[in-house]
Amino acid sequence: MRILVVGGAGYIGSHTTRQLAESGHDVWVYDNLSMGHRAAVPADRLIVADLADVGTLDNAFIMNRIDAVVHFAALASVGESVRDPARYWHNNVCLGIQLLETARRNGVKRFVFSSTAATYGEPDAIPITESAPQRPVNPYGHTKLAFEKALGDYAAAYGMGYAALRYFNAAGASRDGTIGEDHSPETHLIPIVLQVALGQRPHLDVFGDDYPTPDGTCIRDYVHVEDLAQAHVLALEKLTDGAGLHFNLGTGGGYSIREVIKAAESVTGRKIAVRNAPRRPGDPAALVASSAKIRQELGWKPRYPDLESILETAWKWHRSHPNGYGDR
Ligand code: UDP
Repeated sequence: MRILVVGGAGYIGSHTTRQLAESGHDVWVYDNLSMGHRAAVPADRLIVADLADVGTLDNAFIMNRIDAVVHFAALASVGESVRDPARYWHNNVCLGIQLLETARRNGVKRFVFSSTAATYGEPDAIPITESAPQRPVNPYGHTKLAFEKALGDYAAAYGMGYAALRYFNAAGASRDGTIGEDHSPETHLIPIVLQVALGQRPHLDVFGDDYPTPDGTCIRDYVHVEDLAQAHVLALEKLTDGAGLHFNLGTGGGYSIREVIKAAESVTGRKIAVRNAPRRPGDPAALVASSAKIRQELGWKPRYPDLESILETAWKWHRSHPNGYGDR
């Protein structure tokens, strides 16, 4: 397939771009580098442009005869979405629909979308299955759910096949240590824990220790970024015209913040200083995926099902790239 990976220079996008190319596809990356990194993708495959630039976007489809899209380009910080929902609706929905419409105009019939566990909101039961009610509790989740709905309508009316992959907590880095996580500012637990291990931060703030979980800290389902990437390849190859696929992307295992800290101490051999801090608004106590559906229907199986192996690859990346890609 000739694939346009939109937002392909970002964290999950760059790992997916690499795996799509390794699977034999003809891959182009479209990224404005607002959050992505030039060094994360092959230079001769990168189109640096904004989604708002419809002319360049249209050209990217025409010139490269694109027949499938993988869409990562979105804002993804819950707290920021609460403070500035207008930016989230504009980027994640308006510009997303512009991309979808450009894809349709150019005859694209396969579209893979980065959705999120945040579309479920506060779950009634753990593990979360794909048929659980989707009731987001913040603007970020609303925008992602809105886009899923648009995809459903496009599939029904225009035969656009789509897969909405609902990510749980992406973590880790490429096995060879050449690409990894570099957000600025960094807000995610695992990179922050490893920055403490590296001495780049004095301590980790643990956001809440009075949740109804065994040790009082939040439980999340950490899934390795290469396993996430693999799911995109499988989903794209499975898609048929007009099909609508929805999959959770988590391992099905949950770890508390304290368990992450303990595992990081064991992987790094360093003590992680922690400080108790208030709860972060909008954090559900536990988010754990049922991954039965994707395992069964796509044959997906994580190569890094345990926290230690995820942390080992992340540690390799952070140690060898203490300033990330060094481009900020
Ligand atoms: N967390 C924390 N301290 C930090 C960053 C995150 O205690 O400095 C917690 C956060 O409240 C959540 C978990 O770690 O319970 C995972 O957060 P992250 O931002 O990595 O991912 P999210 O679950 O928000 O997608």
